[in-house]
Amino acid sequence: MRRVPTTWLLVLLAASSGALQGAKTLDLYFIDTEGGQATLVVAPSGQSLLIDTGYTGFGGRDTLRIAAAAKDAGVKKIDTLLITHFHDDHVGGVANLLDRFPVTTFVDHGPSIETKDYPSAYAAAFAKGQHRVVAAGDKIAIKDLDVTVVAAAGNAIGQQGEPNPNCAGIPRSQSDLESGENSQSVGVVIQFGKFRFADLGDLTWNKELALLCPENKVGRIDLYLTTHHGGDLGHDPAGGDHE
Ligand SMILES: [Zn+2]
Repeated sequence: MRRVPTTWLLVLLAASSGALQGAKTLDLYFIDTEGGQATLVVAPSGQSLLIDTGYTGFGGRDTLRIAAAAKDAGVKKIDTLLITHFHDDHVGGVANLLDRFPVTTFVDHGPSIETKDYPSAYAAAFAKGQHRVVAAGDKIAIKDLDVTVVAAAGNAIGQQGEPNPNCAGIPRSQSDLESGENSQSVGVVIQFGKFRFADLGDLTWNKELALLCPENKVGRIDLYLTTHHGGDLGHDPAGGDHE
C-alpha cells in the first residue's frame, strides 16, 4: 500500500477491473485546501486538468500542496485549469499557481455574477493563455478522457435522462442563494472507460436538483465529490447542498 501525504489523497483508476499491470491509469488527486477545492486530474495520456486552485495567502500553502501532488504525478504544466466559480477558496490561488506552473487553457462560466467581473488576478492570468467560457453540454478536451460540462452559469445540461425514482417528496430549497456564485458553478462529469466521476464545484441545492429531477441527466456516477465542502446548502437527497 502506497503511503500518501495527508495534504492530498490519490485515487488511481484503471480502465477496467481486468486491466493489466502497467496499464495507464486515470489519477485523481484530492488536495486539501482547508476550504474550497483543488482537484488534479491526470489522464492516461499525461494531460492534466486542475479543477480550482484553493486559497491565496498562507505562505502559498495551497499551491505548495498542489505542487506536491503534481510532482508525484510527474505533471510539469497544467493543460487545462477549470475554475468552477469565483470565490476565494476556489480561484484565490491562481497567481501563486502561475508562479510555479504554466497553464495552457483557462476555463470558467463567465464573469462573476457577484462582482459583474472577473477577479483581477484571474483576468491577468488568463490574458497570458487561452481563455474559454463553457456552457452546459460543452465538452472539455482532455486526451483519453470524456469531460462533459453538466452545469454552468446556472444552467443544467439539456439532455433527457431516465426518470429518477428518488425525487418524490424532495422540495426545492427556500434558502438557496441562486443569485450567488455557488449557483453558477461549472460542474463536470469525467468519464474514463466505464468509470464516471462528478465534480460540481459548489453547486447549490436547487441547481443540483435540476440535474437530477425529475430525470437524472447526469447518469450513473461512481465517484461524487461532495459539493460545497459537504455543507447544508449544496446536497439534495435526490443525488445527494455554499463559499
Ligand atoms: Zn463557493
